[in-house]
Amino acid sequence: AHTYDVVIVGGGAGGQAAAASLRARDKHLDIAIIEPRDVHYYQPGWTLVGGGVFSRNQTKRSMKSLIPSGVEWVRAAVAGFHPDSNSISLESGEHIRYRALVVAPGLKLDWDAVNGLRETLGKNGVTSNYRFDLASYTWDLVRNMKKGTAIFTQPPMPIKCAGAPQKAMYLSCDHWLRSNRLDDIDVSFHTAGGVLFGVPDYVPALEKYVEKYGADVCYNQNLVAIDGEKKVATFAVTGADGTVTKEDRSFDMIHVCPPQTALDFMKAAPITNDAGWVEVNNETLQHVRYGNIFGLGDGMSAPNAKTAAAVRKQAPVVAHNVISLLKGRESAAIYTGYGSCPLTVERGKVVLAEFAYGGTLEPTFPKWLLDGTRPSGLSWMLKEKLMPNLYFDLMLKGHEWLAKPEILTHKPLLHDVDSACDF
Ligand code: FAD
Repeated sequence: AHTYDVVIVGGGAGGQAAAASLRARDKHLDIAIIEPRDVHYYQPGWTLVGGGVFSRNQTKRSMKSLIPSGVEWVRAAVAGFHPDSNSISLESGEHIRYRALVVAPGLKLDWDAVNGLRETLGKNGVTSNYRFDLASYTWDLVRNMKKGTAIFTQPPMPIKCAGAPQKAMYLSCDHWLRSNRLDDIDVSFHTAGGVLFGVPDYVPALEKYVEKYGADVCYNQNLVAIDGEKKVATFAVTGADGTVTKEDRSFDMIHVCPPQTALDFMKAAPITNDAGWVEVNNETLQHVRYGNIFGLGDGMSAPNAKTAAAVRKQAPVVAHNVISLLKGRESAAIYTGYGSCPLTVERGKVVLAEFAYGGTLEPTFPKWLLDGTRPSGLSWMLKEKLMPNLYFDLMLKGHEWLAKPEILTHKPLLHDVDSACDF
């Protein structure tokens, strides 16, 4: 049977960026992307769809148009991993063999973890920017709301784009403020966490907006049920002494960020940890047990912020390290844990959070040009005008502008891939 040099699982941000980075380094690699969907979504744009800035069609491209030339697209879903025989199996039962495997299947939005949510999504004032078809419903609700109660929720971590739940709130409030309706709308943000944002440097700027909009922020409140017809949301509220009580809140509109986990087929895979994330070294993104497997994007175990911005820095690291391994070179590219979250605090202003492992700030631009801890018009321009192009035309094309990783020659990659290494 045919053996590919590299098989990539998933044609989302991570899979496409890794394929493009590999091709940019070596045009002769024989690469396949396994991806069942024929549409690729630019998910970071959904916040702006919910805010009435983008149309939803701006966030969607055909999968075919993004597969780098020379890379084969296998339109199928992966069902299982067989790392000891260097193969994966598809839902059809077919096996595909590889010399190196890159795993980027994303994560699962667990709508069913909130009782009653799935059946009421898209009606009764229940919405979410986490789905392509619902982000425009968010904007419909916001535009049409004149008075009443608006609730925004955030589930326990990890979630992709940890700022997205509050971005939805800020853009909605901004619209209500500009149209003189905010005084008649009671806004609250219910988060399962204990802080507004995980990196403290950005919190003061966000708190100012919470105050400006008069939003009530409720910590340690996890949405567990929604009754769409009655328009009641139920929260599990954890008290200071650890006791959990249930609290009901009525709403006219509610924006829900769903709980998120690893995908079901990943939870059962031999390459993941107990939670179902591909178990990688945090710096090299190489699997901790199987040297010819790498992971990137939302579906892997490193403790970075799950964002497309993180993928921008991870893809060159994975590409470099895959090629190092295939060619037997002793050099490893290192991922710093970079992630970024453009917090759209009002239409025209963004607080551009950029940070690495441990919450260390890792700004792309010098502070005199752009101070990420303050709301900035330039950052909004980046988010609205530049980032979609950065994503489609640079990151997914293998151009590594501002994404070149540090390369270390003394950082060993795992080479004990006996069965894998008939290279
Ligand atoms: P995805 O892009 O989700 O792709 C995973 C792919 O794997 C999919 O195409 C899927 O079909 C495929 N797949 C799944 N199962 C299988 C299988 N069995 N076999 C084969 N393929 C499979 N990031 C930012 O950087 N900035 C932002 O402002 C931002 N805002 C966001 C706002 C929202 C509302 C959302 C939802 C996300 C946001 N993100 C943002 C996060 C960003 O979109 C993700 O982090 C990024 O898409 C992760 O890439 P990925 O490749 O891991 O997953």
